[in-house]
Amino acid sequence: MNTTEDDGKTDALIRDLEGLGEAKCGGCGGDLGPHAFVASVALGFKDRPRCAGCLADALGRERRAFLEHLGHYIRSRVCFRAGWEWSDRHLGHGKEPEPGARWLREQSGAGASRPEPEPAAGGGARAWDAGDMGCGDLVLELRRRVKALAPGEVLEVRALDHGAPEDLPAWCGLTGNRLLRAEPPRYWIERKKDE
Ligand SMILES: [Zn+2]
Repeated sequence: MNTTEDDGKTDALIRDLEGLGEAKCGGCGGDLGPHAFVASVALGFKDRPRCAGCLADALGRERRAFLEHLGHYIRSRVCFRAGWEWSDRHLGHGKEPEPGARWLREQSGAGASRPEPEPAAGGGARAWDAGDMGCGDLVLELRRRVKALAPGEVLEVRALDHGAPEDLPAWCGLTGNRLLRAEPPRYWIERKKDE
């Protein structure tokens, strides 16, 4: 595990959070908040962060299942977990058994989202070498590339980041895209029907 690298990513994320101010959701225009910003970075929406409901909608996920997966995903990575710990402190949520617990409870109570679409089958393969790109940058670029595929098309990804063996399956589980095969550092991801 490359701690120095993770420390750098954590510092960058905290700086972004400190500069967030009264940022608005890129989907509905409502208040964004720091937890949703961290989730947006973790899911590849760093360029246009969204609130929890808009993230679930953009990914075509049922909100409760999405938030449950999101909690596991964020807490499994040093940088994102630190981002939620910062967010808890910032909002005065106090000491939680798990970072983001109160925010997740609040989010799961509000609104409804669309059902998750069935993944499509078939399609050709494309390839992307992500090198040692990691954390929010890896999934940001991954999301762009998967989105550019036709539904059912497959992207072959080569990712050397030490977190990729956990991040890529988790990202697929969260976004509804299908991880067909994982032989680190290579992964085959099939694009879902629509986003
Ligand atoms: Zn929103």
